[in-house]
Amino acid sequence: MKTIIGESRRFLDIDLSTLSSSVFSPDEACLRDYLGGKALGLKLFYDRRKEGLAALDPLGPGNILAFMMGSFIGTGAPCSARFAGVTKSPLTGLMVGSSCGGPFGMACKTAGWDGILVHGRAEKPVLVRIDENGAGFEDASGLWGLGTDETQRRIVDNPRQGALVIGQGGENGVLYAGIRSGSRFLGRGGMGAVMGAKNLKAIIATGRSFSIEPADPAAFAKWNAIARKHINRNPFILSYRAYGTNYGVNPGVKAGYAPVHNFRDRTDERCKALSGEAMAERYHTTHAACAPCTILCGHKGTYPDGKVRHIPEYETIGLWGGNIMNFNPDLVAEWNDIMNDLGLDTISCGATVSWAMEAAEKGLRPSKLAFGKTDNIASILHDIAHRVGEGVELSLGSRRLAQRYGGLDFAAQVKGLEMAAYDPRAGWGQGLNYAVANRGGCHLNAYPIALEAIFRYIPPYSRMGKASWVAFFEDLFDAINATQTCQFTGFGYLLEPLVAKHTPRFLLKLAMTYLPDVAQLVLDWGALSGLVGAITGRRTTRRGFLLVGRRSHVLERHMNVIMGVKSADDTLPARFLTEAETKHPDRSVVPIVPMVKAYYRKKGYDSDGAPTARLLSRLGITTGKTTRDKERS
Ligand code: SF4
Repeated sequence: MKTIIGESRRFLDIDLSTLSSSVFSPDEACLRDYLGGKALGLKLFYDRRKEGLAALDPLGPGNILAFMMGSFIGTGAPCSARFAGVTKSPLTGLMVGSSCGGPFGMACKTAGWDGILVHGRAEKPVLVRIDENGAGFEDASGLWGLGTDETQRRIVDNPRQGALVIGQGGENGVLYAGIRSGSRFLGRGGMGAVMGAKNLKAIIATGRSFSIEPADPAAFAKWNAIARKHINRNPFILSYRAYGTNYGVNPGVKAGYAPVHNFRDRTDERCKALSGEAMAERYHTTHAACAPCTILCGHKGTYPDGKVRHIPEYETIGLWGGNIMNFNPDLVAEWNDIMNDLGLDTISCGATVSWAMEAAEKGLRPSKLAFGKTDNIASILHDIAHRVGEGVELSLGSRRLAQRYGGLDFAAQVKGLEMAAYDPRAGWGQGLNYAVANRGGCHLNAYPIALEAIFRYIPPYSRMGKASWVAFFEDLFDAINATQTCQFTGFGYLLEPLVAKHTPRFLLKLAMTYLPDVAQLVLDWGALSGLVGAITGRRTTRRGFLLVGRRSHVLERHMNVIMGVKSADDTLPARFLTEAETKHPDRSVVPIVPMVKAYYRKKGYDSDGAPTARLLSRLGITTGKTTRDKERS
């Protein structure tokens, strides 16, 4: 087997219109500034499409789908099997990045490719095969119309391979269709619809031609051991290992972030039947994680009908459980399997369905859907993916439907992307996070609900420090997304090094609340920057690592501003700004305006939410420089 030291620096550019490909390498400055993963995907997209970005049709041949490997993948660093997808979203009309832990990443990286850009449109359905020699093209007409399960079964025939596939949702242009790899998804923003519009049914990579070795093996061994130690002793991470992401259900019921009745309520004891703890007992769960993974948050279990199923993630449980007034976890798992096979984003689909239920109740739009009615959900999911009957409209997402029928105030979306299963009235920082996140109603942008309502380090019903924490975690998570290690490692890296671990909790809480900038100095992500240096040979400091994330985040915001985003878009649906009364004992609405203003100041944006020329220049974004890719063939 041949060896790659850290990065191959080889990228494939695939033109589906001509069924041809070429090889390029970004220059050293670009790799240093953007590293890999989502950050580098945004940069490559920007360099190629910044002219005409606003008018670029997400479902047209000009849109680019970038599949970007992270710099940690293949090295054995913790939770490093991940890769990113980046494109212009047909759901929001803005940039969208997504992270996936399926087998495609390892196969692609060990085939020798650090990333793939796909553009153009094939005349008929096509399957792209990738190996160390490049890309080949095959007729995929026989696969068109199949679900993601059967498609993967037909095309993956040995363990060296990893596939990316779409189901009927992507083929038929459902605006929130995802892309599947193994049992994992590039779920958000409609990437599957972009793939379908290109007539691209699947990409399959055959890897294990190369082993990936760090540039500095001794430094890697040191930082890898430290990282594992920190990850393996973090209590939050250990809860995820034991119960999966559904560990979050019981704290959500207590703190009032678990959505109920299309976010009309934010607590209901019946949701506890869908908690990680309850499901571990009911289904005798075992691990079913991305590979390799140190945390092991993924689980599977045996259901009453005898089938072994993946346990749905917290988001799916939240939006298909209490939010549609269903408290039967068996049903959520059945629907989760159906959505995964059809290739639908369970978050956007769930929030669109719950919007339709409330709209019908209020007489705004007739529907077969109703809260608590579960017997027609499976057939509606098929209608959505095939775009027939009521599914034609439901395939458009909640914002478009609310613009057509009314009911924007209770459409749980921001900038067109449906919100995940965290009610922002339970943590005002989470509200700010949703309002300003680049891809819309995204919980993973900064995830402050963890500090507010899960760890309870900072007061949830307060504006204090929220702008600082959102800005900090945006930078950190986008830096992590440049390595494509799993974001769930973040709290292990931050909170377990000596200083943070041994600072008395009350002191840390005080500092986090009143002096967030000082508290951020106590947190230590040195193992992450150490791993970057050891793997790539490009030494960096903690600050330098954070700067990669900041540059990526600001570039994405800049691209979104070019596509029309303004401060008026940085807000929440009226429900979260005006409806304080719920069944949760605490009354709360989110004071979004002053928090957004404070956030703009923190980020260096102007009053309309645009990065200033000075900020762009400081980060090397305004110079008009384009990546000097070196053509190899
Ligand atoms: S922690 Fe969960 S999501 Fe993250 S890499 Fe592991 S299994 Fe995948």
